[in-house]
Amino acid sequence: MEPITPSFNNIKNVGLPDFCFLEHLDENEIMNNISTRFHKDHIYTYIGEQVVSVNPFSKKEHLYSDQTLKSYHNMYMYEVPPHIYSLAQDTYKKLLLTKENQCIIITGESGSGKTEASKILMEYITKASINNKINEKANSATLDRSEIIMKLIMDSNVILEAFGNAKTLKNDNSSRFGKFIEIEFDEKGAPISGKIQQFLLEKSRVHTRAIGERSFHIFYQFLTSKEITSKFQLSDDPSYYRYLKDSMCFNVSNINDGREFKLVGQALQSLGWTQEDLDSMYRILGAVLLIGNLEFCNDQEKANVDAVNVKNPSILKKIAALLDCNEDQLEKSLISRSLTLGVSKRKSSIRVLLNTNQAMETRDALAKVLYDRLFNTIIEKINKAISSDIDRKNIESMIGILDIYGFEVFENNSFEQFIINYSNEKLQQLFINLVLRQDQEEYIKEGVEWKFMDNYFDNTPIIDLIEGQPVGLLKLLEEACLIGQNTPELLIQKMNQFFGKHNHFESYETTNNLSITNQSFTLKHYAGSVTYNLEQFIYKNKDPLYQDLINTMQSSKNNFLLSLFQLDFLKASNQQTGAKKIPTTMASQFKVAINDLIGKLNSCQPHYIRCIKPNDEKRPGHFDYERVKHQIRYLNMLETVRVKKAGYCNRQHYTRFLARYKMIAPATWPFWNGTVKDGAMEIAKVLIPSPIDRQAECQFGKKKIFIKSAKTLFHLEELRSKQM
Ligand code: ADP
Ligand code: MG
Repeated sequence: MEPITPSFNNIKNVGLPDFCFLEHLDENEIMNNISTRFHKDHIYTYIGEQVVSVNPFSKKEHLYSDQTLKSYHNMYMYEVPPHIYSLAQDTYKKLLLTKENQCIIITGESGSGKTEASKILMEYITKASINNKINEKANSATLDRSEIIMKLIMDSNVILEAFGNAKTLKNDNSSRFGKFIEIEFDEKGAPISGKIQQFLLEKSRVHTRAIGERSFHIFYQFLTSKEITSKFQLSDDPSYYRYLKDSMCFNVSNINDGREFKLVGQALQSLGWTQEDLDSMYRILGAVLLIGNLEFCNDQEKANVDAVNVKNPSILKKIAALLDCNEDQLEKSLISRSLTLGVSKRKSSIRVLLNTNQAMETRDALAKVLYDRLFNTIIEKINKAISSDIDRKNIESMIGILDIYGFEVFENNSFEQFIINYSNEKLQQLFINLVLRQDQEEYIKEGVEWKFMDNYFDNTPIIDLIEGQPVGLLKLLEEACLIGQNTPELLIQKMNQFFGKHNHFESYETTNNLSITNQSFTLKHYAGSVTYNLEQFIYKNKDPLYQDLINTMQSSKNNFLLSLFQLDFLKASNQQTGAKKIPTTMASQFKVAINDLIGKLNSCQPHYIRCIKPNDEKRPGHFDYERVKHQIRYLNMLETVRVKKAGYCNRQHYTRFLARYKMIAPATWPFWNGTVKDGAMEIAKVLIPSPIDRQAECQFGKKKIFIKSAKTLFHLEELRSKQM
């Protein structure tokens, strides 16, 4: 195993296991270290207690063998080589020790390895927590329950990936939603229940995506089953469906859709899905695909020349049969819209005919809402299976794992990127607060000297610009959605009026940059500038789902489908009774969700994994220096290491310290009878004879010794190896 406190010789060869050990701290040193390590197959490096991970793009079986996993059991992070296992071990140990909630925040751009990291974490936590029970000889009833819960949580990954992941240009298995998984433990540290929360599924992928990308995996998976396609009389050829055909990509070389589909079926069954549930789900998937094949043509008989009819009624008939709803009503809700006029008692309703574009928009809205609600229902069902009211009472603490989409910049950035980057700003702010807070708290708790540092890059101004009250970009967008006649041009004028002079905002009025049109604006995010195209913002934020479509779905005789639209019944009755309003636009819903999440994370002890993508071609072992440098920059790594180094580069529990270094001091070798703290002080005296220098380099806390610089740590290691 790679020693965590290396001698100078192997530093040159394999790089430092902790960036805080760097003597001269600058970007080049960080880059050299990360590149050296990557080329020597060390994909993990610490920054104190954080783990930096560089995606190897190739299977590293030895890294995750049972033997490796066991070697991390009950070890402290500073004792073992950098690994996600050591972070998982640390998290679990802190949970047992403090009974406080823990969270692990995984950040990085698409394809950097976040989702893989979350699986590695869960695997470790499962093994450690269940091992723990075995060691305690707990009664078998709880052991079984824990095992079942963890198996269900692990199985749910397969389901979530099938429905929520897709091949993109950046990642063959890209998560198109953010997730927060909570594993809840009883007082003994046994997992007894769990909860999954999803954020902002990219539902527009159902109907549109870039060429070369795929829709969600499940569509290709379920078409591989002849049994299902023939049962529901569906074509099994993906290219038959326009929604799949348009992006011209059907197979992914390293994905076996048929095999995955079997695993998904098994996982759903282990969650208690009946054959009837499964059939209903296949019906919805088939219907969504067929909805994409609906076409519209002008209706010559109608007075309004723009009015349309469904051009292919046989498809419509099939969809209505799959969804078990009335065919005429379905057609009506696709080609016309009822509008309510007047107020209260004088209300009346008229029917407006749609033109081709509006009908196509309505059609896609139906496909989107069906899929989105199916996804949410699946998560709800997973949550039901992994938690129970009886267990609720016994929950002592939890570990939350956050795997959320990283900062995104494309050629054309729209509403989705705006929301994703906004959530990354929030996470970055949390990171700054927590990293500072966490270190400070430890120094205070241990009673060591520490000077507060706050010369950090602070992203509060940009967050205020986005979500500020009374006026922020979200607020202006919200207003634009409430007012009937509104255009991107009017919205940008409003933005200019309020934020034209803001340091983080640019528009065509305030910049010479010709790429910024009167329909776009640029935000200077902490991770870089992004220009957003406002064209679709208002539409996407409103996310209109017309009442007629809801009514049609609610008239279905399929109970499963009905359950997807239950919330709409609730909303309608809430509106009638004047109950608390559920936020209506996408951005306002998201703001509530992300702020809830941040609140939750804030009340946990945080742990961080920062994932780095070494190249864009997914090439094993290839290190693109500039690409990595860019990520190092916006992950604020230099700053993070600086803050960590401003404190102490290393800390060790006295007991472990004494056990490792007792041979250095005659007083402690071979036995020491005093307290562990006094023993550590004896060793320090030999390490640094001058009291003044010693005081500058070593601080003695209540339970731990804190070592200021890596130089001292290396010296310690050298003295040790001389005595061995
Ligand atoms: P993200 O969730 O950040 O978008 P993923 O976790 O899906 O990225 O990783 C993308 C791909 O990179 C994976 O499908 C896998 O092929 C590869 N990968 C990621 N992490 C590792 C790892 N630790 N070891 C080997 N391959 C990895
Ligand atoms: Mg992912």
